[in-house]
Amino acid sequence: MASIAVALVVMALKYIAYAITGSVALYSDALESIVNVATAIAALVAVRIAERPADRSHQFGHHKAEYFSAGLEGALILLAAILILIQAYDAWLNPRVLSAPAAGLAINGAAALINAGWAWHLITRGRELRSPAITADGWHLFADVATSVGVIAGLLLALATGWLFLDPLLAFAVALHILWVGWRITRDSMSGLMDASVAGDTMARIRDVIAANADGALQIHDLRTRMAGRATFIEFHLVVPGEMPVTEAHDICDRLERALTEAIEGAEVLIHVEPEGEAKSKGALTF
Ligand SMILES: [Zn+2]
Ligand SMILES: [Zn+2]
Repeated sequence: MASIAVALVVMALKYIAYAITGSVALYSDALESIVNVATAIAALVAVRIAERPADRSHQFGHHKAEYFSAGLEGALILLAAILILIQAYDAWLNPRVLSAPAAGLAINGAAALINAGWAWHLITRGRELRSPAITADGWHLFADVATSVGVIAGLLLALATGWLFLDPLLAFAVALHILWVGWRITRDSMSGLMDASVAGDTMARIRDVIAANADGALQIHDLRTRMAGRATFIEFHLVVPGEMPVTEAHDICDRLERALTEAIEGAEVLIHVEPEGEAKSKGALTF
């Protein structure tokens, strides 16, 4: 919540800086923080929804709400970049002298300082709480501060040299940077919506945990994983001797489930038990 309040103040300051100077570079910086406010709110809502336990109409949980918010974030960023490019192109064709540049730069600089302070707070707090999400937010803000510093430095140069084209040029650069960030966010959320499987090292870890806890079983095969937000769904077939009592096979399953949920954060495991006649030679892990 505090993040949203800070982002709102920063956004208002940056917008004022743009309004009094008419600089498209400051406009691009202001738009970037509007995107930050919108995405902070969307992320807050998405995390709340994603945390909800499974219910009758969403029996696997609500984890993918986070991808939805990331997709929205990507779309907003694209929109902001297009708006900036239109303004920058216009300023490129009709170069204009900035009005009240000193006041505008001072206000934008103050906003950047607030952002830097908050970014530093988030990074230290994220480390304390060992929360990658909070730390990532902090670094994202830090990148924004870097953008602001670049914009301010460029505008100072423009004022010193009288090169009016620097203003739209800076706005172009900010738009490209925003587009790059938006593309990365969208790509990640797309792959999540497409039920991406776990990374190679996690897969190796899963196989190790299964191998270490499969006493009594003959092999596993058809191991599949898919990630949804913080949840990781793991399923496979477990081959046991045909004459093994169900109770015993179930004990093995419980042991495997426990070991996997301990080793992999957010793991949800489903095991299909089969007699040895169903053993496979391809894609199997035989004990
Ligand atoms: Zn099978
Ligand atoms: Zn059971």
